[in-house]
Amino acid sequence: MNKYKEAWNNVYNFKNVKMMVGKSMNDLQELVKRVTPKKPIQNSIFKFVYDCPNNKCDDIVYPYMNFCSCCGQALDWSDNNE
Ligand SMILES: [Zn+2]
Repeated sequence: MNKYKEAWNNVYNFKNVKMMVGKSMNDLQELVKRVTPKKPIQNSIFKFVYDCPNNKCDDIVYPYMNFCSCCGQALDWSDNNE
């Protein structure tokens, strides 16, 4: 392998590594968001129905659930009267 081809390969591999790291970072950020409990959203029409706070999901969640069964979003059912 001549040195130019080798240099090109190194640059190419570096670009791939950067892409992979970037993708992993995004996945990790998504995971961190998911394991951070969020308050379920009270349905505007049916007050006893709660929607998953993950806006990509919007599944219905119930007060006995610690996690959304659809997307795995952690749920925070604690009451704060503030
Ligand atoms: Zn969900």
